[in-house]
Amino acid sequence: MKPAFMTANLFKTACAGLLALAFCAPALAVTPWQKITHPVAGTPQAIGGFANGCQIGAQPLPLNSPNYQVMRTDQRRYFGQPDLLAFIKRLGLQATDKGLGTMLIGDMAMPAGGRFSSGHASHQSGLDVDIWLQLPRQRWSEQMLLKPQPIDLVNADGKTVNQRQWQPRIETLIKLAAQDNDVTRIFVNPAIKQQLCADAGTDRAWLHKVRPWFGHRAHMHVRLRCPAGSLECEDQAPPPPGDGCGAELQSWFLPPKPGTGTPVKKEPPPLPPSCQALLDKHVL
Ligand SMILES: [Zn+2]
Repeated sequence: MKPAFMTANLFKTACAGLLALAFCAPALAVTPWQKITHPVAGTPQAIGGFANGCQIGAQPLPLNSPNYQVMRTDQRRYFGQPDLLAFIKRLGLQATDKGLGTMLIGDMAMPAGGRFSSGHASHQSGLDVDIWLQLPRQRWSEQMLLKPQPIDLVNADGKTVNQRQWQPRIETLIKLAAQDNDVTRIFVNPAIKQQLCADAGTDRAWLHKVRPWFGHRAHMHVRLRCPAGSLECEDQAPPPPGDGCGAELQSWFLPPKPGTGTPVKKEPPPLPPSCQALLDKHVL
């Protein structure tokens, strides 16, 4: 995840350089968190930050639901805090009620959270979920769910959405998620945010939570607030005020300014003590 101090331009520059390993590219090494194959028993707790944390008392998202389907279950990334499970069930029910199609659930977190070996810097504390921006009318087969085919919604120019793939019900799903009280941020590609800005009309308050980010051309990443009982959970500062459709969004479509940001190699931050203790206890 982008460190708070970075502008879009600075981050684009940094991602091309040494910081890539720390923040941008998938790390390939196996992480100790992958060795914890079942949730750690205890009162549910999200611990630390979204990109440097872990979880206790995680629950598996029920895999059989009429309102959603879970993809790539073989990777066992369908664990989360109870608030996250409740949110997914709530949104799935709304999607069904509105006849949007079947909601497709991607990565949540590993049983004890922590850093993945590939694919994400965040999703570490059981409060993040990737939801695909396609809503099939027919439920997918087991085979399709194990090898899901994403639909790229963004044109090659990186600035516009592909109008042949874009559908109002995708917009409805994002809006429903953004209007959920437990949701603090939703990450989508800047071109998708731009399309939402253009279509929103006068009801624009929900756009505040929808944030432009790299990738995210086929899915949205939904992040929840820290649950009330998670005393060691670190929330992010709220997004800047406004609908985020102005200069900040446009900055994503500009080439990086020459000379912005000198990449500095940065070690990953130390784990929160409770997460380190959890690793020490559960991983030999
Ligand atoms: Zn994600």
